[in-house]
Amino acid sequence: MVGRQKHECRVRINPRGTKTCSSKWLNRRDPYPDNLILAALPAEESRLVRSHLTSVPLKSEEVLWQSYEPISFVYFPTSGLVSFLTAMRSGATVGVGIIGREGFVGIPILLGATRTSVRATVEVAGYALRMESALFSQLLVDTQQLERILRRYAYAFLMQVSQGAACNRLHQTPERLARWLAMGQDRTGSELLPLTHERLAEILGCRRSSVTAAVGLLQQAGAIRCSRGQIRILNRNELERWACECYPILRRLTATSFPGGSTTSRYAG
Ligand SMILES: [Zn+2]
Repeated sequence: MVGRQKHECRVRINPRGTKTCSSKWLNRRDPYPDNLILAALPAEESRLVRSHLTSVPLKSEEVLWQSYEPISFVYFPTSGLVSFLTAMRSGATVGVGIIGREGFVGIPILLGATRTSVRATVEVAGYALRMESALFSQLLVDTQQLERILRRYAYAFLMQVSQGAACNRLHQTPERLARWLAMGQDRTGSELLPLTHERLAEILGCRRSSVTAAVGLLQQAGAIRCSRGQIRILNRNELERWACECYPILRRLTATSFPGGSTTSRYAG
């Protein structure tokens, strides 16, 4: 079971009229899931931005952007999980970052680029609010708060990529897998992650046999259970014990990129 520690927090009403708690921006199960960047906007900007957004499903393994192709849409996920993969000529891949409803799939457009070397793929199905990239660029001129929040988020994401580069080179597969699963749970709010060993091998940039061995270790420790292409997180504390030092660093970085963000809320095993 997933539990949460009690803590003091400020409750406010977001532009959709639902209550949000600024210090529990992560790890939250919300009956009306919203993108947390959009939820942080002042009411007037929120109305303007939302008037240009369309809700779309994110299907498992759907490619939102292909490497080096024009980026047609930007996305504000409200559920699910999107990963960024870098692919080599050999076909080998490695994940360089993940985004859930705390984030924004469109940093290259924010920074003035129209395409990128990474591929954005849906790992866990969900929903997103999306907008045409050209329209988003125009809208930024009139939405200063959105631009400010997105710049802070872009910095946090850049740090995620930087830390991930060191992690991919220096840390072992079991601890990297544990980190990735913890980050996935943070972003989806779910203890169930529908990911096959093959998919995890693409994300972690290793052989499938290495994933199988790492999953075996985490299962033996009671942190997870794996069956039928799904991983269920059974003991969050044990999972974090296995995760490399990168996990708390990245968690703190992402949390503090939000207005009122905090690292006080955590899963309990
Ligand atoms: Zn690491």
